[in-house]
Amino acid sequence: MGEVVGYRLRAEFKQAPVIGDRILFAGEAAGLVNPLTGEGIDYALESGRIAAEDLAAALRRDALDREGILPCKHELRARYQNLFLFFPRMRTWCVNGVLMDRLVATAAWRHDLNAALVNIVLGNRPTTPALTLRNVLRVAFAR
Ligand SMILES: Cc1cc2nc3c(=O)[nH]c(=O)nc-3n(C[C@H](O)[C@H](O)[C@H](O)COP(=O)(O)OP(=O)(O)OC[C@H]3O[C@@H](n4cnc5c(N)ncnc54)[C@H](O)[C@@H]3O)c2cc1C
Repeated sequence: MGEVVGYRLRAEFKQAPVIGDRILFAGEAAGLVNPLTGEGIDYALESGRIAAEDLAAALRRDALDREGILPCKHELRARYQNLFLFFPRMRTWCVNGVLMDRLVATAAWRHDLNAALVNIVLGNRPTTPALTLRNVLRVAFAR
């Protein structure tokens, strides 16, 4: 068996550059990997489509400079920024044993909380500012 090697995944979308002068990043190059699951194929495909459509529009305007591709940056930030702000918060919860035990127990009967967290992590629904640690604690320790 060969040597086991690893390489870091780029999951830092929230502070990664998305555009430069005549440069547009999508997928993992833009830090679009879920830091909780290590998955990035779906983000790569989706952000690639967004980038391609915006680039086509910029090409039609013959505006490939930083200003010309700004709409793409805005669209990628609008689509992913809140999610990638939420992930580190969720990661903090995951390494807190007491909170995690409680959250798992709560999710067994609070199906709305269960579905909300799963769908946010899988990217099926947007995050909500209401999902703060304070509110999660309030729900988890309500019973
Ligand atoms: C071990 C492992 C397991 C994973 N498992 C999963 C999983 O189960 N599910 C999931 O969703 N995600 C998984 N991921 C993450 C997923 O593979 C990446 O997030 C995804 O492939 C990123 O797609 P991308 O198109 O942005 O970049 P990439 O797939 O990395 O594609 C970039 C391409 O650009 C090429 N390239 C680089 N530099 C240049 C250059 N200068 N000129 C020309 N070409 C260049 C590279 O050769 C590469 O082909 C895994 C990652 C790893 C490392």
